[in-house]
Amino acid sequence: MCSINLEDYFIKEIKNLSDKKIMFWGASNFLKDILSIEKFPNVCGIIDKDITRQNKEFCGYKIYSPDILDGMWPDVVIMSVKSNNQYVYNMIKDYLKKCPYIKLYKNLFYSYYEYINTPKYYCPFCHKDEYFEDYGTPVRKNVMCLNCGSMERHRFLYYVYQKHIFNKLTERISVLHTAPEKSIYNLFTDNDQINYVSIDLDPSRYPYAKDILKMNVLDLKFDDNKFDFIISNHVVEHIEDEELFFKELTRVLKPDGKIILTAPYDNNLEKTFDDSSIVTPEDRLKYYGQEDHVRLYGRDIYERFKKYGKVEVVNSDFISEDLCKKMNIGKSQRTAIIISKNK
Ligand SMILES: [Zn+2]
Repeated sequence: MCSINLEDYFIKEIKNLSDKKIMFWGASNFLKDILSIEKFPNVCGIIDKDITRQNKEFCGYKIYSPDILDGMWPDVVIMSVKSNNQYVYNMIKDYLKKCPYIKLYKNLFYSYYEYINTPKYYCPFCHKDEYFEDYGTPVRKNVMCLNCGSMERHRFLYYVYQKHIFNKLTERISVLHTAPEKSIYNLFTDNDQINYVSIDLDPSRYPYAKDILKMNVLDLKFDDNKFDFIISNHVVEHIEDEELFFKELTRVLKPDGKIILTAPYDNNLEKTFDDSSIVTPEDRLKYYGQEDHVRLYGRDIYERFKKYGKVEVVNSDFISEDLCKKMNIGKSQRTAIIISKNK
């Protein structure tokens, strides 16, 4: 999956930043491999929390404790760490706050932090301003909350769920969540008025979801008319049999229940595009925008879904533009579809 050579990548980055003073975070074997290849005049040291390493030489560079760097932080700190390593993020975050200039980039499974002007944004799940990571292909700047992992569409959905679910809670309700995103999972499991069930074909992808059930969304092991709400984000574009997907979801939905769904669609495309000869990951990426998508929805997505129930389109009308900007949610990320069951 990770096809680039990481050493080459970081060496290129160090050279690109030749006018910046750089420190590395962590005296690792990986760093030793890079620093033993050549000398870099713009690298001015290494930061490491391990006191047994501090004040020693490492490949000709001095190792500093992060605690003594006040007033002498470099322009850029580069760290190589698995991008989903929340523990490291949380640990380093407090140190990063000491410097008013922060930028976080992400490269596949690895991240590095660059200290230049970057604002914080508001995360409704975290109830505070946070640093947001760059994410996506092509990359979108400052979109993923560093604390909870929420993306633009999740922050939009936070308000959709408040309006359509949480603000209307009068009695216990049942909610089914397919492919549960962490921020949304936490939001629903924190509310004791909700019987919440999450499912996925591969539960190992959701280490935070302790009680997630292994289940195929096309073969739900639930009785008919069980759930008040089904939430499903960016799932349907992966499902070959769209009709069976909605048949199963509406089967387990109560007569007054609602599916709240998001799916990527191309506003420039009049009609949804799929072609049964497009099967390889390369072709799917080329024609559908992602290696595991099976169609590219167009502007007809709402008309198309009408055959599965009553369709209501939810946009950001009820959220102020100012708040959307504070949460860095682009206009294209502010659509959800509510589908009510045909009775
Ligand atoms: Zn957050």
